[in-house]
Amino acid sequence: MGLIVQKFGGTSLADSSHIKRAAKRVAEVKRAGNQVIVVVSARGQTTDELYALAYEITDNPSSRELDMLVSTGEQVSACLLTMALHAMGEEASAFTAGQIGILTDSRHTKAKIMRIDPQRLGQELEQGSIPVVAGFQGVDEQDNITTLGRGGSDTTAVALAAVFKADICEIYTDVEGVYTSDPRIVAEARKLSVLSYDEMLELASSGASVLQHRAVEFAKKYNVPVMVRSSFSDFPGTIISEEVRTMEDVVVRGAAVEKNEAKITIRGVPDRPGIAARILGSVAEQDLNIDMIVQNISAEGLTDVTLTVARSDLKEAIEVFEKLKKEIGARGVESDEHIAKISVVGVGMRTHSGVATKMFQALAEAGINIQMISTSEIKISCVIDEKSADEALRVVHKAFELEKAATK
Ligand code: ADP
Ligand code: ASP
Ligand code: MG
Repeated sequence: MGLIVQKFGGTSLADSSHIKRAAKRVAEVKRAGNQVIVVVSARGQTTDELYALAYEITDNPSSRELDMLVSTGEQVSACLLTMALHAMGEEASAFTAGQIGILTDSRHTKAKIMRIDPQRLGQELEQGSIPVVAGFQGVDEQDNITTLGRGGSDTTAVALAAVFKADICEIYTDVEGVYTSDPRIVAEARKLSVLSYDEMLELASSGASVLQHRAVEFAKKYNVPVMVRSSFSDFPGTIISEEVRTMEDVVVRGAAVEKNEAKITIRGVPDRPGIAARILGSVAEQDLNIDMIVQNISAEGLTDVTLTVARSDLKEAIEVFEKLKKEIGARGVESDEHIAKISVVGVGMRTHSGVATKMFQALAEAGINIQMISTSEIKISCVIDEKSADEALRVVHKAFELEKAATK
């Protein structure tokens, strides 16, 4: 007997026929003698619609109520899927995060899971029942409802798989696995049969929204095997697991584009020790996540510092920089929301050179200007104009012949 966590995304639960189909999958695994924990997302576009409703009321909805509002979508799915299981003769119960003790910090809309109490779900499993958990949500120490950031049901699923030492965490979605690039943008993208936690982590934080990056962090930390697969077919999906030596044979595993970032520059900053720490400290105090950081070579004792932040954090970042400008005597603050970040990822980059050159050349040949560059051991990213985002992804995909090398 195994223990399997199955997570169903929004498209996989879009209407009653989809919900019944998901229930059938759950029941099959249970009837084969396994224990199953199910995690669900909100149906279809529900989360977007709930956010839109809030912003119809006010430009500045309180984050506590926003979380309480958007978390309802998952609750609806959990109840409907549980009813579908009942209708098939299975024992099952729906749970909110509060009912099963998913404790998070209090950072509304981007909370982190701190602890999961295994007691209640453990009891359910022992009794042979199927718990169906509302994903994406948690509760803080004051019992406020929190959410884990967009795509957060993936993280609920992997965290539960870690706590219960599941044999596998299956992520059911609307594509057949993790592809070399978003298959909705690059028609030639190929499904990967396997990739490492580190590669998935870099892809997820570079815009491959098929898995939330925090889910991958959990999976890596607790060594949870994750399979991403389609809820519409029985094809085997993509396994994400620990790195094995042969993975290094492939230099670039995939490419991704992130369209939800913005760039902010503080110009004419006095170039003296401690300034970068001061700037970054002010940003961190506001709990804003920074992605790239570039400081220019100084001229006449002055320098420019540019950061990229989540687009949703730009307004706050501008306020922080304007305040800082006055305090440190900088010359000005500029920002640009119309950027995109294109990245290539692969563990093989550690042992192969020439990846950056090939990427820059491909972008240059397509007439795409690079505004910023950052690298890690297994990733190269370039900030470009938003208008060229999809073209850049296709161009880079082609340059590395990802349509050929993919599925090994
Ligand atoms: P769910 O609602 O099931 O969680 P998501 O929309 O969050 O689904 O994630 C699936 C989507 O991720 C796909 O429809 C696809 O457009 C997008 N995606 C982006 N990058 C990739 C990639 N490299 N491989 C597969 N899908 C990707
Ligand atoms: N429903 C949430 C969202 O749309 C969480 C998820 O889908 O994982 O972001
Ligand atoms: Mg998702």
